[in-house]
Amino acid sequence: MTLVLRIGHYKTLEVPDSLGRDWTGWFPRMTEAEAFEAGRGAWKLGPRADNETFALITANTPPDRAVLAAVEIESITAPDAEGRRSIVGRVLEAGHPFRDAYVGHHDPLDNESRNPVGYIDLPEEEQYRLRACACGCGTETKRDFSPGHDQKAIHDRIRAHFDGSTLRFIHWMDQHGPAAAGSGEGIGGLGYDERNGPPGEGD
Ligand SMILES: [Zn+2]
Repeated sequence: MTLVLRIGHYKTLEVPDSLGRDWTGWFPRMTEAEAFEAGRGAWKLGPRADNETFALITANTPPDRAVLAAVEIESITAPDAEGRRSIVGRVLEAGHPFRDAYVGHHDPLDNESRNPVGYIDLPEEEQYRLRACACGCGTETKRDFSPGHDQKAIHDRIRAHFDGSTLRFIHWMDQHGPAAAGSGEGIGGLGYDERNGPPGEGD
């Protein structure tokens, strides 16, 4: 899911708010950075917000219902004295597929809800979604494995099935694996996840 945060019209604040801002809201031709500054807080956000990867800042000023900025969420602050929380993250730049799909377009959460906070499932976020590490360690990752855990998963299997001998594993793979003579499958059938680089290369 993506967090959708809708901001109202621009207004100045006589007393700076908990984020130190003396203004809030939407104004024409605001930059994406300004939209994030206006939309990063402070919101009533429940625990489900902590699972989200992206947020869209949108104008809640009919007929202006455009997406103003797309943000990658790094964390969400603890509640302030009024129980409101704010997003810590970075504005996605032009060229990012998630940003390009939505910024400048109509609010994808086009409903009549007066709640300025909403959630929506968007297809472009699928590849970035947090999921359980495939090694079974219980951590969550935006890739198939947490950094280095692809190596761990392989070596766990070598230990369990080949008495810890990488050489025996390699021989077995050569004889019985998809690249073995007569198997008819090329190396492409191994199913390696090419997005996972060497250990430590993760984001
Ligand atoms: Zn793992």
